[in-house]
Amino acid sequence: MSDHAFATRAIHAGQEPDPVTGAIIPPIYQSSTHVQDGIGGFRGGYEYNRAGNPTRTSLETQLAALEGGVRALSFSSGLAAEDALLRGILRPGDHVVLGNDVYGGTYRLLTKVHAAWGIDSTIVELGDADALRGALRPETKIVWIETPSNPLLKVVDIAKTVEIAHAAGVLVVVDNTFASPALQNPLALGADFVVHSTTKYLGGHSDVLGGAVIFGDDRFVDPVKFQQFAVGAVSAPLDGWLTTRGIKTLAVRMRQHSANAQAIAEWAAARPEFETVYYPGLASHPGHEIAASQMSGFGGMLSLALAAGPQAARAFAESTELFQLAESLGGVESLIGYPPDMTHASVRGTELAVPENVVRLSVGIEDIADLIADLEQGLDRPTR
Ligand SMILES: *Cc1c(COP(=O)(O)O)cnc(C)c1O
Repeated sequence: MSDHAFATRAIHAGQEPDPVTGAIIPPIYQSSTHVQDGIGGFRGGYEYNRAGNPTRTSLETQLAALEGGVRALSFSSGLAAEDALLRGILRPGDHVVLGNDVYGGTYRLLTKVHAAWGIDSTIVELGDADALRGALRPETKIVWIETPSNPLLKVVDIAKTVEIAHAAGVLVVVDNTFASPALQNPLALGADFVVHSTTKYLGGHSDVLGGAVIFGDDRFVDPVKFQQFAVGAVSAPLDGWLTTRGIKTLAVRMRQHSANAQAIAEWAAARPEFETVYYPGLASHPGHEIAASQMSGFGGMLSLALAAGPQAARAFAESTELFQLAESLGGVESLIGYPPDMTHASVRGTELAVPENVVRLSVGIEDIADLIADLEQGLDRPTR
């Protein structure tokens, strides 16, 4: 599949028709175990489903092809994937450097869970090369990048960060959830691992939770696979199958998400109600040049800071109709959220706190005129 373009790989990798019936869609192997032809005589290598399931294999093959990796492992959530990767690499006493705008759950996982098992972490502004170099220690094993970031859409130069980390013998993980592999391929820019919350754009329809690790080379496949097997946060057959189905339309969805978000960013930039529009597709965004060089589109996420302050931001988030008030992102339907009290409540008062006048939009693929009309009526409502 590697000689085919992205949209083709997304549809065909790991999707061979069923050899017995010719069904064009590989079936959902809703089975917890597999019959053996004599003890240890596994058919297709399958025994018990925590170790492997054909539907999961199909998804993992597809995921590896999307990111150009040697292998992918699929999990029951994005955080389960992150956890298995961290535990596969790190030992007590090790240290991780995190960008200062990473997903709140990643920060919580490291500082509230892994810290208790002897993992230390430092938050830095990854765009500042000196700050990054200064944060690296002999015990540093991982630099964790999220770009564009959540919810302020900060852009980190992946290749440059990889160069600094690799010069110090440090591995690089990129959380590619916001961009999706349709728009950005961190492994091609030198990163060692990509993680995804497949709950978001890859699943794409807000109907399944999942996560993945994709490996640039073989070094850590076995230890992370061991964590997946020994701890057991695998993706279930139906969840895996739904994710695979979502991925097949990823290329066209991301084009429309990006086009709609760009139109909304330009609309918002011209409205006095917004003091800042956080969207890398705007030339005024500080990360625009880097985003344009490492992404093939700017994605469907954007945040808006309300000039009138926190109360206006809360009221706006509660006033839209098509943009439904909900956590999560990346589905075909548009969502609006108030990060300080919703997705980012766990980082309030920390170095990762989000400004209190910011709302976050996950721009869906509905008709753009309807979406803008909805935001306009939301602004026009009197503040409650
Ligand atoms: C949602 C999200 C995660 C966590 O994924 P879950 O599937 O919710 O466990 C990690 N990183 C980013 C950027 C996310 O948006």
